[in-house]
Amino acid sequence: MEPKLFNTMGRQLQTFVPIEKGKVGMYACGLTVYNFAHIGNLRSYVFEDILRKTLEYCGYDVRHVMNVTDVGHLTGDTDEGEDKMVKSSRETGRTVWEIAEFYTKAFFRDFQLIGCSLPTVICKATDHIQDMIDLIRRIETKGFTYSAGGNLYFDISRFPGYGKLALLDLQDLRAGARVEVDQGKKSPFDFALWFTKSKFEHQAMLWDSPWGTGYPGWHIECSAMSMKYLGEHFDVHCGGIDDVPVHHTNEIAQSEAATGRTWVNYWLHGEFLLMGREKMAKSAGNFLTLSSLTEKGYHPLDFRFFCLGAHYRTQLVFTFEGLDAARTGRQGLRERMRQLKAEAPGGAQEAEGKALDYLKDFETHLADDMNMPRCLADLWTLLRDTGVAPAQKLGLALRFDRVLGLDLGSAKEEEVTLDEEAKALLEERRQARKAGNYKRSDEIRDILRARGIEIQDGPQGQKVRFAAGQRGERAVTSEGDRC
Ligand SMILES: [Zn+2]
Repeated sequence: MEPKLFNTMGRQLQTFVPIEKGKVGMYACGLTVYNFAHIGNLRSYVFEDILRKTLEYCGYDVRHVMNVTDVGHLTGDTDEGEDKMVKSSRETGRTVWEIAEFYTKAFFRDFQLIGCSLPTVICKATDHIQDMIDLIRRIETKGFTYSAGGNLYFDISRFPGYGKLALLDLQDLRAGARVEVDQGKKSPFDFALWFTKSKFEHQAMLWDSPWGTGYPGWHIECSAMSMKYLGEHFDVHCGGIDDVPVHHTNEIAQSEAATGRTWVNYWLHGEFLLMGREKMAKSAGNFLTLSSLTEKGYHPLDFRFFCLGAHYRTQLVFTFEGLDAARTGRQGLRERMRQLKAEAPGGAQEAEGKALDYLKDFETHLADDMNMPRCLADLWTLLRDTGVAPAQKLGLALRFDRVLGLDLGSAKEEEVTLDEEAKALLEERRQARKAGNYKRSDEIRDILRARGIEIQDGPQGQKVRFAAGQRGERAVTSEGDRC
């Protein structure tokens, strides 16, 4: 299978061809660890995980490198603003190092809970300051830098291809309303490679460098670490769509200025998760974390399933109704997998005959820029087809799950965790039944059912389970489910 991927560089679908046969070098921009990842961030990581798993499905040995930005960073895309780590330190009373460690651990816990495979290499910015200094030195030697106001800047006028990824029209943008804050810069698009003169007070992380004591600019870490672990020319670089105009644009300029050659062949970017019409962002304060979903009783993989419902290049609006539908859909899949295991006691079998058509459909849709909604639909159609033997269905579903990452092979029962409101309703229903108020009892059952929670009344009282069934279908109940 040869996947076609949408390359932001050039804005077209391209058949993926690796630099080295059988191998892929893939770099993904990681998190700035001053707070919990929000589910908008996590959508990007689900997309990157699907990309990695798709390449692995195609037989490539993928070396997946991800950075952790644990060095002083800026609140916006520009060189202005407040250092996020310092801000968090001031607000919480912890040191910047403690904050970085705490949120790094929290991030990779969430990362794995939503079914993402850990990167082959996880590299922390603060462990690679010397690599950044060495790279800045190369850029400086080639004449792409100047000093102003105590900082070292990249001079974009020396780099002819600046902005090619983002299709920036510098003329247009210069005429626009972009505010020039740093008077030392020759162009507002020039960016700092090394700060010695911090605009931030109480800068806690400082290193010696040929340009004085200070800290690196915020783009250089990705160039330095990706080249260290993947070489000066590698296959795939990915991130969120908001990385395109500044972060990745600047990464390309400084990397290619240093090496004098093409740096990355394929650029892939995931679209935003929206809250209403707004992009989910920590700065806007409208963000949800994975824990805020699991506290409400959702499984982390419900969120993954929710993400798979939209193509990674389309914006996705987050709603709890959508997440409820994802939960119902995922429960339905697990239910079918349990049934298939019972129907095929000999285990999974290789696809043959009609089952091969489903394999072909799935791979066609996967190869089409990772069309997850279509791939999921293929899985559902297969599971409903009575003309395919259960053992072959089982084999195909497990094979598809190598990319989907929904843990379909697991026979583990998932515990039902309810939010406070649901718990209170259950208690009210218990009391109502005790008092013989069956009208209220039925009302509450209907309220909970509308939220995807089924109640079964038995000798031990009320038992609850999340309703199984396909998205949009009515919930179905089945015997033998435990809470
Ligand atoms: Zn980056």
